[in-house]
Amino acid sequence: MSRIVYVNGAYVPEEEATVSIFDRGFLFADAVYEVCAILDGKICEFEGHVERLIRSLGELDMGMPVSKEELLEIHRELIKRNNVEQGAIYLQITRGTADRDFVYKKDMKQTLVMFTQAKGLTEEKAGIRVVSAPDIRWGRRDIKTVQLLASSMCKTMAKAAGKDDAWLVQDGFVTEGSSSNAYIVTKDGKIVTRNLSTSILHGITRKAILRLAAELDMEIEERPFTIAEAQDAAEAFFTAATAFVYPVIEIDGVELNGGKPGPVAKRLNEVYIEESRKSYI
Ligand code: PLP
Repeated sequence: MSRIVYVNGAYVPEEEATVSIFDRGFLFADAVYEVCAILDGKICEFEGHVERLIRSLGELDMGMPVSKEELLEIHRELIKRNNVEQGAIYLQITRGTADRDFVYKKDMKQTLVMFTQAKGLTEEKAGIRVVSAPDIRWGRRDIKTVQLLASSMCKTMAKAAGKDDAWLVQDGFVTEGSSSNAYIVTKDGKIVTRNLSTSILHGITRKAILRLAAELDMEIEERPFTIAEAQDAAEAFFTAATAFVYPVIEIDGVELNGGKPGPVAKRLNEVYIEESRKSYI
């Protein structure tokens, strides 16, 4: 059975889903997206993701094409129709369709598409190996736009080098992963992750993890760190909605924690899953 996706009010098999070639998402990457994790067929952190979606749209001079309640209903319907127990649910909102022109018009009829991806989220995590790469993305990484080409190229480069992902570096400091927030745990047990700014995406998982770490009395420093500091750390990990807390076991050829997932990442991942099971909807 083919996957059912959502396009502008209709649930259709993915082969039948179409969007205009004049959609500004296609022509100008004039679009934002969000992705929530699906756990036990339920949606994780819906409120946080919608809040960030509304902010991303607002920063690009757009509003929401449907209400928050309607959006939740579409999420639930798609998960049900595709029978997804674990995985991700994506939504993409473009400014809409118009003849090609750099200048956009106000209040266009937006395009809303949504789709699910089934994948395991709670299995044992072996850890990933990352390489550093220059962060060549635009300057408003706090807006979750669909301009993912730089990240896509970096991750592909990492894979071609036999590794799993890239950690992006600007002015000598790690900004974030190609599609995740980056953390290290210092030898004296502090969790370090880059402070919020326009240089990184304000991760919804990041926010939850920092809250949970504080509740576990872990010390947190929100500041930039270098690749050298990360290579000298006790452990490293990343967070993202579709990965939860994921160990990083090697950075630019240097293994951390003997090339094994570290205890802090493991503990935070367990706690995050526990908490998600209490609050998903
Ligand atoms: N940073 C980037 C560049 C991302 O693409 C993502 C997730 O897609 C994140 C961070 C993590 O954000 P979240 O925890 O909200 O998924």
